Amino acid sequence: MIHLKTPEEIELMRESALIVSKTLGMLASEVKPGVTTLQLDALAESFIRDHGAEPGFLGLYDFPNTLCMSPNEQVVHGIPNNTPLAEGDIISIDCGALKNGFYGDHAYTFEVGEVSPEVKQLLEVTKKSLYIGIEQFKLGNRVGDVGYAIQEYTESFGYGVVRELVGHGLGRTMHEDPEMPNYGKRGRGKKFMEGQVVAIEPMINMGTHRIIQLNDGWSILTADKKPSAHFEHDVAIVNGKPQLLSTFDYIYEALGITSDEEDPFRKK
Ligand code: MG
Ligand code: MG
Repeated sequence: MIHLKTPEEIELMRESALIVSKTLGMLASEVKPGVTTLQLDALAESFIRDHGAEPGFLGLYDFPNTLCMSPNEQVVHGIPNNTPLAEGDIISIDCGALKNGFYGDHAYTFEVGEVSPEVKQLLEVTKKSLYIGIEQFKLGNRVGDVGYAIQEYTESFGYGVVRELVGHGLGRTMHEDPEMPNYGKRGRGKKFMEGQVVAIEPMINMGTHRIIQLNDGWSILTADKKPSAHFEHDVAIVNGKPQLLSTFDYIYEALGITSDEEDPFRKK
């Protein structure tokens, strides 16, 4: 069942999403060679609590930490640990926050120091595919239109689109209907509605789309051990059009990046 949100509820969800955005922005300055994912996790937990929210993932389905930390060939759901990040790594940081009864949930894949041109391209293409998908999340379209757009763009670079893990509706629970696959057929699936809120999150592999799971019961890896990228935003349909609730602005501010990719989807 899809839970549509009132304009007031969408504003509460924006608050939760922005706490996650600010947490990722804070972490952007801390991601560097030598830091451990467990250290970053502790920073994030304090930051979220200091902002009057609770970590959204901690304890959810018994997940042990605040952040899902997935380096290099890990796709998603990695558990923070004591291994230091190294120059040339990439690290997907997925973060959730719960405030006023609503969840925020979004993710960014960071570069650790200098990464190879091939990896840089994977990150750029995956992030661009997120916005290409968001553009399709509007009245008149269906779930398959988002997935089709993401798949068509990323596969044109020879990349693999993860099938087993998908985006999702978001609200008073972390995972609501509908599932939002990053692959699909145009014009297929459920119709989008005013007041709908979803997390769109392409998980794109440099090589095969196939994945395996580690014995820890959480971490998902690419089957060929090639790198994987993951970017996620929370988006609402307002006046028929996609409107971002989360933003990468805080990350870009920390990293000194300028970008206009979010402009079409900002609250007017
Ligand atoms: Mg997420
Ligand atoms: Mg999600």
